[in-house]
Amino acid sequence: MRMSLVLGFMAAIVAAQVPAELVPKIREEGQAPKSQVMKHLDELVNGIGPRLTGSENLTRACDWAREKFESFGLKARVEPWGEIAVGFDRGPHAGVMFTTDSDGRRKGENLVFGTNAWTPGTDGWTEGASVLAPKVEAEVDAFVKAAKGAWIVARPGAFLRGKSLTDKAVEAGALGILRDGGENVTTSGNHQTQWEKWPKLPSINVISRQFRAIVARLEGGESVAFGFNVDNRFKKGPVVVSNVIAEITGTEKPDEYVMIGGHIDSWDGARGTTDNGTGTATTIEAARILAAVGAKPRRTIRFMLWSGEEQGLLGSDAHAEKNRAEMDRISVCLVHDGGTNYLSGIIGIPEMVPIFEEILAPVKDLDPMKPFAIKKVDKLPVAGASDHASYTVRGAPGIFWNQAGVANYGYTWHTQNDVFAAAIPEYQRHSSIVIALSALAIANWPTLLPRGTPAPPNVATARRRLGAQFDRSAKGLVVEEVVEGSRGAAAGLQPQDRIVKVDDTVVDNRDQLSSAINVGGTKKTLTVERGGKTLTLTLDFEPKK
Ligand SMILES: [Zn+2]
Repeated sequence: MRMSLVLGFMAAIVAAQVPAELVPKIREEGQAPKSQVMKHLDELVNGIGPRLTGSENLTRACDWAREKFESFGLKARVEPWGEIAVGFDRGPHAGVMFTTDSDGRRKGENLVFGTNAWTPGTDGWTEGASVLAPKVEAEVDAFVKAAKGAWIVARPGAFLRGKSLTDKAVEAGALGILRDGGENVTTSGNHQTQWEKWPKLPSINVISRQFRAIVARLEGGESVAFGFNVDNRFKKGPVVVSNVIAEITGTEKPDEYVMIGGHIDSWDGARGTTDNGTGTATTIEAARILAAVGAKPRRTIRFMLWSGEEQGLLGSDAHAEKNRAEMDRISVCLVHDGGTNYLSGIIGIPEMVPIFEEILAPVKDLDPMKPFAIKKVDKLPVAGASDHASYTVRGAPGIFWNQAGVANYGYTWHTQNDVFAAAIPEYQRHSSIVIALSALAIANWPTLLPRGTPAPPNVATARRRLGAQFDRSAKGLVVEEVVEGSRGAAAGLQPQDRIVKVDDTVVDNRDQLSSAINVGGTKKTLTVERGGKTLTLTLDFEPKK
């Protein structure tokens, strides 16, 4: 009884923002059996596949998304924002470890592994013996001899007379390098790869448990051979890359916007499901729901699917920069990019909180098992980990949804586990309804949402990328490779350097390193140990002009 009184009271308030008759319609449209969010996700991640920026899949996905929006009756377009010098497309890959058992029979074991984007595959099935990377000076010459025509196993603490393992392996005529890929094999890659200079040696990231077993066999004196077939394809660019933009035009203020979205690009080690097929699917589904119930927002609701997010928010940065004049007409930019857990809350500056409390009441009321919290913050964070940050730094409020639930995002994020089955249908449906209701409520509010203090100019919006690969099996942060043209290379970082501090913060692993470089100013002092000496390098994360 008490409950229904409260609900009745809320519905009366809500009427001003989301027409009362639309709330149940939106809920019904977004729930089973009407929901289509899992169908969108299936078509995207299984039908098309992973969507690396600069891949053919991404181009297909953008066209697919535009057609989806248009099929709901929205105006939609694929809008180019830039170019990638070298396109990269990935076919299937397979790898086998060959050993000989005590009866002299050859045995094979399939390997779980990945390769980074913009790294070479093999020229068909490529089989050869293997050799451990040397550990001491005395092993180097024998290693160079054995490496010709062999797979190199990059065990911890390789000693290479100051050279990188890759340089040494190329020099020796090796087939490729096997590295410890971690227990979840992550995929990344250097999108600034140039056609003239793309790497030529396969670098195979083997899942830790198998990698450690390989090292143990080789250290025990066993002969181990490998065969790999890795179909990685480079395509001479420039490849045009785009964002997808769709709109439901506002009835009263068509040139004011509520933006909702997520990035459609992904890394390509698996299917790009939780990063970020899930946020793409909810954006498309929110559009479908609002169109299906005939929502007529006062402001324009703009649905954004950015690309180049994984390379440092490139698509959103370009879109926001090109549309600087619009920033004071964007009420909010809400981004879903934290995996499949349900949307569990929103942050707001103090002036936003009472508005959210009022107009997001129907969201709070959706499902008692999925509470929704409005959290006050002094300022909206500008150094964000997703596309909303590109707008926040230019003065338009960008907000990343809070999420909660049973899914383990770390398990799937950028890893071989990011497959369709990782998505939780119930959460996906719920989140789509949250987005549809919130977008409509904010679009109908009498004014634009209040702004916070505008962000200081020149804040680097891009994720700060060092461009270094670390020896995963070494203790601490020992650099294995430095990407040419990266911030790390510009600072003078070298293979075999051990990074020990960022400014005054001691760092011992990659998590600590990335938190330390992502906070505060854009200039960072790195303390590194090199050849028994300690030296300092200056890292500069100012946006490149
Ligand atoms: Zn993401």
